[in-house]
Amino acid sequence: MILVAKPNAPAKLAEFADLTAGHCAAHDADRARYDRGDTTFEILSANYGHADVKDVLRNAQHSKCCFCEGMFEANAAADVEHYRPKKYSQQGRRQPKVYPGYYWRGYAWDNLFYCCQVCNRSHKKNFFPLRDPTTRVRHHGGDLTGEAPLLLNPAGPADPRDHIFFNNEIAVGGTDEGVATVDYCGLNRLPLIEARLEHFKRLETLRHVAALQATSPDVEAVILEAQTYLAAAVLPAAKFSAMAQDALAA
Ligand SMILES: [Zn+2]
Repeated sequence: MILVAKPNAPAKLAEFADLTAGHCAAHDADRARYDRGDTTFEILSANYGHADVKDVLRNAQHSKCCFCEGMFEANAAADVEHYRPKKYSQQGRRQPKVYPGYYWRGYAWDNLFYCCQVCNRSHKKNFFPLRDPTTRVRHHGGDLTGEAPLLLNPAGPADPRDHIFFNNEIAVGGTDEGVATVDYCGLNRLPLIEARLEHFKRLETLRHVAALQATSPDVEAVILEAQTYLAAAVLPAAKFSAMAQDALAA
């Protein structure tokens, strides 16, 4: 996981301002009903499929998932992820669903990310643990700055690299936020570990190649190729770049 630099909000999102205002008014009119979860707001996720929003996120994230840094191939399925869950939230596993979710953040640019379906649907789901669950905001008039989320926001302000590091291919949380994010986003699920291990081994091999003595023009060319690959592997556009940074710094 690396820090995502988001561009300005796409103009498309402004079209949902009236819808959000309507949700807020409906909530004010019968707060208890929404707090019980008898009625939830329908956030029209299908609208996020619009190229104006989803592609902007994808470009900002170099076609990678905001959590696992897996690279999306062309047309691979991906979700627009709501950092703060829109329908309801859960402090943790086997914890009750808390209604309503962050319905007023359903179309908020700073709440949206490009995310693989495994991270989003199989792991993070509606989990949104807070350091103090009593501070959870359940109304659009609340102050979100009073919450201390345990899940790292891919756009900061905290740099995920200060909270999660890699021991070879294994993601390790170095703080409470890092531990919670690795856990709830499934950053050590087996297929992901296997994919990172394959990449890690490639980096190790290339590092040895890059350190060879150039005994001939052919060898020199191979060394240069390895060095070029390794230099690119740690950049934000590269898959699993956080792991690569730690692997190559070791
Ligand atoms: Zn992912």
